[in-house]
Amino acid sequence: MKCPYCGKEMTLGYIQNRDDLFWTSQKRVVASVPLGGGEKVHLGCGDGNPFVGGETEAWRCRVCKKIIIDYGKD
Ligand SMILES: [Zn+2]
Repeated sequence: MKCPYCGKEMTLGYIQNRDDLFWTSQKRVVASVPLGGGEKVHLGCGDGNPFVGGETEAWRCRVCKKIIIDYGKD
């Protein structure tokens, strides 16, 4: 994937978390499964495998210090 900011090639990696992986509109005290209000988007693979539930692929640009994550296919 090319970086949308500088156009250089990005490196594919993973972001992993202990329980599961979410983007939330409200900062949590403990990074875990979010409860309560605020918008949230599940970022994990969600295929039912307990070993991949808390991770997602992420593209990194070393030049711009950016990470890009796809959170859905549809
Ligand atoms: Zn870049």
